[in-house]
Amino acid sequence: MSSSLTHRIYNFSAGPAVMPRPVLEQAQRDLVALPGVGMSVMEISHRSKTFEGILARAVADLRELTGLDERHKVLLLQGGASLQFSMVPMNLLGAGQTADYIDTGSWADKAAKEAKRVGSVNVTGSTKADHYSRIPDASELTLTPGAAYVHITTNNTIEGTEWKEPPATGDVPLVADASSNILSRPMELRRFGLIYAGAQKNLGPSGLTLVIVREDLLARSSSDLPTMLNYKVQAENDSLYNTPPTFAIYLLGLTMQWLKSLGGLPGIASINARKAAKLYAEIDRTGFYRGTARKDSRSLMNVTFRLPSEELEKMFDTEATANGLDGLKGHRSVGGMRASIYNAFPEQGVEALVDFMRDFETKRG
Ligand SMILES: *Cc1c(COP(=O)(O)O)cnc(C)c1O
Repeated sequence: MSSSLTHRIYNFSAGPAVMPRPVLEQAQRDLVALPGVGMSVMEISHRSKTFEGILARAVADLRELTGLDERHKVLLLQGGASLQFSMVPMNLLGAGQTADYIDTGSWADKAAKEAKRVGSVNVTGSTKADHYSRIPDASELTLTPGAAYVHITTNNTIEGTEWKEPPATGDVPLVADASSNILSRPMELRRFGLIYAGAQKNLGPSGLTLVIVREDLLARSSSDLPTMLNYKVQAENDSLYNTPPTFAIYLLGLTMQWLKSLGGLPGIASINARKAAKLYAEIDRTGFYRGTARKDSRSLMNVTFRLPSEELEKMFDTEATANGLDGLKGHRSVGGMRASIYNAFPEQGVEALVDFMRDFETKRG
């Protein structure tokens, strides 16, 4: 029993995804009673001093990691990134205005579709005709002068592509869905008018959504909006308008402390770069495996690749799973394989996958 409780396989799931082992261990240690409190974090009031302290420290550590100052508000909400597909236009897209959406993948497409329910949307820079295998060049974007905002998806989780640098948008606020690469490397978050992420890839468990919004944009939130969907109300109440997901916030806080212990974003960035380089080197080594993203657009978080046939892909998935490498099947919409190697994914797991890929190619190639 005890060994089955502590033995962990390598979890390549796209989300909910692997969490840092030290975070899980601390949560386990303190689950029944927080030191000095005598109650589980799940059992205390969200208005208690203890919880206020947990929330304040999580936000302070996030600010420290990202270098954000008071001009940006940090909100911890619910509803996932998918609710942000609606909240962003409801709050930021005024009547008579247009929002630009850059179409780099299935999530970007979903975000644009929800925005269209709210107001006028200009979809631009679509790489759909190329199966979303790349990020568009600046020359492919037709941005609307005076747009309400420009929306991008910083990392395309399903297709395995990533913006290396966000596009220049001048005075138009840049809004980003960063669900699958937030805090994976230093990113100039100050450049964004608003950035959001579901927590379950790089920040903690599902059920929690991070929204970072520039203070001046809160003036756009109309008082006619449903209260819970109003950024201004959420900001004025420091994410405590109603009961927040307290346990998830606690785990996000522990994850921020773990990131700090690794040397912050520069520290995790070098680990992430190394992990991805090892995997892409194996993909490129012979013609057996084929990366699906164009090289200059490759994601460091979701590594997508194909084998010579669907039959081999099925075999690869089955044998990998039997070898303790779980969750490598690509998204049903694109097929192939996908190795999600977020911040918490251990480097030894990448090495184990590379070894497995070599063996598999030797046997079946
Ligand atoms: C996972 C993901 C989503 C969906 O997130 P939910 O929290 O399930 O709503 C949206 N966008 C991107 C880029 C994602 O990776």
